[in-house]
Amino acid sequence: MTLRPRQEWGTILREPETYGRSHLGVPLEIWRPAGDCTLLIFAAIHGEEAETTFALSRALRQLREPSPHCAVVLAANPDGSIRGTRGNARGVELNRNFPTRDWQPNPVPHRSTLEDPRDVLLSPGSHPGSEPETQALITLIDELKPKAVIALHAPLACIDDANQSPLGRWLADRTGLEFVADVGYPTPGSFGTWGRENGVAVITYEFAMTNTDALVREHVPILVELLTKPELVTEGAP
Ligand SMILES: [Zn+2]
Repeated sequence: MTLRPRQEWGTILREPETYGRSHLGVPLEIWRPAGDCTLLIFAAIHGEEAETTFALSRALRQLREPSPHCAVVLAANPDGSIRGTRGNARGVELNRNFPTRDWQPNPVPHRSTLEDPRDVLLSPGSHPGSEPETQALITLIDELKPKAVIALHAPLACIDDANQSPLGRWLADRTGLEFVADVGYPTPGSFGTWGRENGVAVITYEFAMTNTDALVREHVPILVELLTKPELVTEGAP
């Protein structure tokens, strides 16, 4: 696929569809692919990880036509994006709100920076899947039935793929990020755990702590490849 000329990178080609509403009533937006959806990439399920939205938007804005195979969600937690919070507008850490066998009602410890202790407490929700953003994402994936889902996060600097799939390996090779099978601490109720329990192949793509310029140089071209090369999903390599 040829890309749009640089002068046109300021706007996204098409209007999105809506797959639900956030707690605050903000539309949950999806850019659907032209053909069958084999890949879903979503950003900012953590509202304070705005760099994931920025990078994915920048990649999407370079496309001259819809991705042939990849659905895009720029903000899975738009309330958090608007308010700059990790959780949604009710303070729920959505990545601990998924209905998994290991879901726990305990507060979720979080650290504000990599140097801080994990002493900020967030809610995992009143019950598994309690939040509208969580429910909408599950319903969306049930409908799309993608072969893989890439969840963008920051700043752990790794490619976390429990299946160690060819696509995950390609991403690790292409980004130079460490290829791991888990993040090294329990994540009950996380999207990744939900994926494992429900036969959804989830790859967590964690950007490093870096500045915007480095982020654009390193990751936007890789995201463009993910959006334009369907063969990466099935083969993991061109
Ligand atoms: Zn995150």
